[in-house]
Amino acid sequence: MTEEIQSKPLIIASNLAKSYGAKQALKPSSFEIPTGQIVGIIGANGAGKSTLLNCILGLSEFDGQILVMGQNPLQNRAQLMNDVCFIADVATLPKWARIDELLSWLSDIHPNFSIEKAKKRIIDAKIPLKNKVKTLSKGMMVQVHLAIALAIDAKLLVLDEPTLGLDIINRHAFYDAILQDFFDETRTILVTTHQIDEIEPILSHAMFIKNGEITLNASLDDISDKFLCVDVGDDLKIKAQSMGPIYSRSLMGRTTYVYNNQTNDSLASLGDARRVSLADLFVALASDGGENASGTN
Ligand code: ATP
Repeated sequence: MTEEIQSKPLIIASNLAKSYGAKQALKPSSFEIPTGQIVGIIGANGAGKSTLLNCILGLSEFDGQILVMGQNPLQNRAQLMNDVCFIADVATLPKWARIDELLSWLSDIHPNFSIEKAKKRIIDAKIPLKNKVKTLSKGMMVQVHLAIALAIDAKLLVLDEPTLGLDIINRHAFYDAILQDFFDETRTILVTTHQIDEIEPILSHAMFIKNGEITLNASLDDISDKFLCVDVGDDLKIKAQSMGPIYSRSLMGRTTYVYNNQTNDSLASLGDARRVSLADLFVALASDGGENASGTN
């Protein structure tokens, strides 16, 4: 989406790992996440996404090293949290609380929270500040949650499956508001979601996790350059196979082949190559070759 900003990485991890007893939820990983990006952290259930976020946020002990905005999240968590906003689920707020009380508490505990900003957004959404959270519809809850999140002057916004349980209109409204009112090139958003297709248009960077291992960490521009796919009929299948696809899938008499490191020119004899969607790439890299491929490389 945007060009990668050539500045200090937001996150630098070296041999970062996390085990729960015998279960290695995150295998030793070294990686960087650039500043000023909207980063999708994508993986199947149990892949290790929340574990990674918990390490980044200093919410759990880990092995190896990680620096987030230059800080060790375990040692400097309080300081780091001044610049971080974390939302795990926009549909959850303490049900017994009144909205205005909730805002006052937040204002007391978070140095970068602007109560005026939050109130304005809630009033603009025509939600009475005296209402208790339990009286709100899911859509209103999203508005209140957004008002809170966007009133925090954070450098890093971490969203762990934020729109779980919301309908598509509220999901879009949520991401639109985040983009319009939060994101600029000095800020970074990390978001985990299973709705890859929905979120792909706003991402500029993607990280794939499979069984605790980071299998891809790249900008969407680099992914578009590196991975291409092409649809072929039966007559070109042997040729397509010979060019070393990493994945293939047949549907209604056409087979889609996904390639790593081929070019539009080199694939021209098969047909018009196109970029691979993140969802398709995720399946391709997760599936060890698909039904017809000659193997991953
Ligand atoms: P999902 O998409 O289902 O939320 P995830 O990618 O966020 O999954 P994690 O929650 O990070 O996955 O879990 C990674 C692995 O670590 C899983 O096998 C999970 O069962 C295990 N795990 C996570 N938290 C704990 C814990 N507190 N104790 C033991 N095992 C855990």
